Amino acid sequence: MSEYLDHLKARPNRATTPELQFVAPGVWALRNVFVNLFFVRQGYNTGPWVLIDAGLPGAAGKIRRTAEQLFGPDARPEAIILTHGHFDHAGALESLANYWNVPVYAHPLEMPYITGRSSYPPPDPTAGGGAMAWLSGLYPKHPYDVSRRAQPLPDDGSVPVLTDWRWVFTPGHSPGHVSFFRESDRVLIAGDAFVTTQQESALAVWEQRQEVHGPPRYFTCDWESARRSVERLARLQPAVAATGHGIPMRGAVLQRELTELAQHFRELAVPAAGRYVDAPAVADESGVRAVPPPAHDARLPWILGGLAATIGLGIGIWLSQRDEGRKSYKRYRRHRQHHLDDPAAYSVDPFTPVDETDGWFPGPQNL
Ligand SMILES: [Zn+2]
Ligand SMILES: [Zn+2]
Repeated sequence: MSEYLDHLKARPNRATTPELQFVAPGVWALRNVFVNLFFVRQGYNTGPWVLIDAGLPGAAGKIRRTAEQLFGPDARPEAIILTHGHFDHAGALESLANYWNVPVYAHPLEMPYITGRSSYPPPDPTAGGGAMAWLSGLYPKHPYDVSRRAQPLPDDGSVPVLTDWRWVFTPGHSPGHVSFFRESDRVLIAGDAFVTTQQESALAVWEQRQEVHGPPRYFTCDWESARRSVERLARLQPAVAATGHGIPMRGAVLQRELTELAQHFRELAVPAAGRYVDAPAVADESGVRAVPPPAHDARLPWILGGLAATIGLGIGIWLSQRDEGRKSYKRYRRHRQHHLDDPAAYSVDPFTPVDETDGWFPGPQNL
């Protein structure tokens, strides 16, 4: 067990990875507090680009500045495309779409939540897993409204602007959740269909310790669909997966853990108890139709006590880790070049152009 923990500790985490990361040619991930969003360019070094997901409320300025760093002054995407519309993925959507004056694409089943027509099914604090779950009752769940700009993704699976990509229907975490896949080098942007950190736990979210997990439990409203979605993604055998939460993963470690998640989804991902465990929320193209009643939770007083303790502990650990974090970041910067020889390389300088003629990542035979 402790060997396993040491192994996990050696993996990239918040202290050892920059906020803006190179994921694959033409793909960058930006970490916004605890959620990721993606800049994806059609060509490796030139060409139009889109923003996939739009971060937390208030992130618009940061996202715009990052776009300018990557693509030059006044950089503007051709579109904003959503994996889904939860508040941490569409928080800055209205402000960015208006500023850039661009269309917003999402799956038809996700439309009600970005066109002001329906709130999401209520989050489930009883799904457990840690403070992020317990607090989920407080998360915004009102719909965003970009009706004037919202358009459904084409139903042939193609992705607007990004001709090398296709969207994959991966519902369960939300009714119209989609992922994005680039077949040529098997790059996957999975949104919250699965994630690479234990999103329910505030401590894990702070550290961003890297490991494959099921979709964040407190928002997942249909567990059977979520299981099938993970199976679908595992069958794609992604070489790289960038998810809505956590640090991108790649290679053999990713494939092993994703396969394991698909095979043992019930044990690994589905909570023991919770509002949507026995019955899903029912939703259609006009929004939520029916939700199961809240799970009775005799643990609530304990949960509130635990929550206070967790926050205290989290602050304590954070304070004590701050210096250590800075030190490991410096170490990481020093060793970054060596890092590139490592099949588990997680980050190269996001601003370095990529040689399109060069294999940028080992093919399946080398994984
Ligand atoms: Zn979500
Ligand atoms: Zn999320």
